[in-house]
Amino acid sequence: MKSFLLSLTCMIITGNLLAQNKVLPVIDMHLHALPADFDGPPPIGMCAPFEHWSVRDAKQSGQEYYVNTLTKNLFCGGQHFLSATTDDSLLHETLKVMQQYNVYGVASGPFQVVQKWRQAAPDRILPGIMFSPTMEISPEQLRKWFSSDSLKVLGEITGQYDGITLSDSIMEPYLTLAEQMDVPISVHVGPGPPGIAYAGAGKYRARHHSALVLEEALIKHPKLRIIVAHAGWPMIDDMLAVLYAHPQVYVDLGIICYGFPKKEFYAYLQRMIDAGFGKRICFGSDQMIWPQTIRVGIESIMSAPFLTEPQKRDILYNNAAKFLRLTSEEMFLHRYPFKKLKERAL
Ligand SMILES: [Zn+2]
Repeated sequence: MKSFLLSLTCMIITGNLLAQNKVLPVIDMHLHALPADFDGPPPIGMCAPFEHWSVRDAKQSGQEYYVNTLTKNLFCGGQHFLSATTDDSLLHETLKVMQQYNVYGVASGPFQVVQKWRQAAPDRILPGIMFSPTMEISPEQLRKWFSSDSLKVLGEITGQYDGITLSDSIMEPYLTLAEQMDVPISVHVGPGPPGIAYAGAGKYRARHHSALVLEEALIKHPKLRIIVAHAGWPMIDDMLAVLYAHPQVYVDLGIICYGFPKKEFYAYLQRMIDAGFGKRICFGSDQMIWPQTIRVGIESIMSAPFLTEPQKRDILYNNAAKFLRLTSEEMFLHRYPFKKLKERAL
């Protein structure tokens, strides 16, 4: 009841701001709907951003290093967040930030968790699924979920943690399905947690940060609607080559927009902008269990000194709206969500 009243109060305050047209909509192409203990027993810390990446003494185990880096946060260069402690608080705190900033998010995670989040906020959550072909989710099962509208996006595809790229043959039936059903896909290409190959993801490889791993899949499936999660950081030349050679490809800015040293994030983003790809860069937070990181990510775009106002709007909303093929009615309701609130009150 308490959280319901809190949500209601928040909705009224946010509704007033939205009614004054002060909060332009944002699409978060890389949101997660996860259990609160996804990264281990909460609370877990996160830097936004990290100031630098710590050294692993070779005698330290991978697990020990991972825990020290990601939970004790010895090297924060900005804010330090502790994760939500329960599944409900993670959901409600995330929705609160989404309402404050008028965010609509493609949320991925385990199927059941995503469905719960969608039920809690059907207007704001577009259901995706965190997916790797090692998970034993069949193409037939996915087809059912897409046909029944339980899922709208295939991804985030996290095969990189299992040493699998989009161009590997094991991905074929899934890509064929996405192409046939005109379902957008989001694929992780770029950074996982530092040192993760030594802490549970033994097949993770740095070379798979390169967007070039996508090429054979792109050629084989020319109608695939695809967004590259994490924009292939740090292999900018490879990413630019793929954006140039494959004009259907979009990128999102997940994790690099809040977790990485700001100077590096800005340099990376500016390379893509300066190279002429401002119409294919989408905001993505990669919020996992730290709801405030959505806010930090949005603010890092808003305060980027080299972006014009139209470029910021493209990144924060317009490009994703185009990629998702939103209707003009959907975009209108994102811009004026209070209209829908009023209709519901009648
Ligand atoms: Zn990812």
